[in-house]
Amino acid sequence: MADNDTEQSTAWQQDPFAAAYPETGEFWAAAAQGRFLLRTCTDCGKAHWHPRVVCPLCGSQRLEWKQASGRGTLYAFSPARRADPPYLLAYVTLEEGPTLMTNIVDARYEDLRIGQAVGVQFRPAAEGRMMPFFALA
Ligand SMILES: [Zn+2]
Repeated sequence: MADNDTEQSTAWQQDPFAAAYPETGEFWAAAAQGRFLLRTCTDCGKAHWHPRVVCPLCGSQRLEWKQASGRGTLYAFSPARRADPPYLLAYVTLEEGPTLMTNIVDARYEDLRIGQAVGVQFRPAAEGRMMPFFALA
């Protein structure tokens, strides 16, 4: 159990995506512990997605990591029926403002409605990092 926890908490360091974008490292480290961080600008006060070194909203480089609520609403969704296995692709608008592309898990396409409340659930990507997916709240 403890070995699995340790493995999960450091697996992101071997992930090629995380390695290619070192500015996202703190995000993946927190995600491995089930915490959802958002890059937030201390000049304009807004959070953005995905994590960057410069605020895409005002150009400032004064950014900090903030713990996000993990809550959001379903903005749009589509079933990827021909994928193996099939999955539900979605855009979720976070309580803090940003909209991110993600997957909806533990739900059927027929049960989804625009505007539904969703909550983050981290699931492992094949490469090792924990990805923020969402489930109906
Ligand atoms: Zn800004």
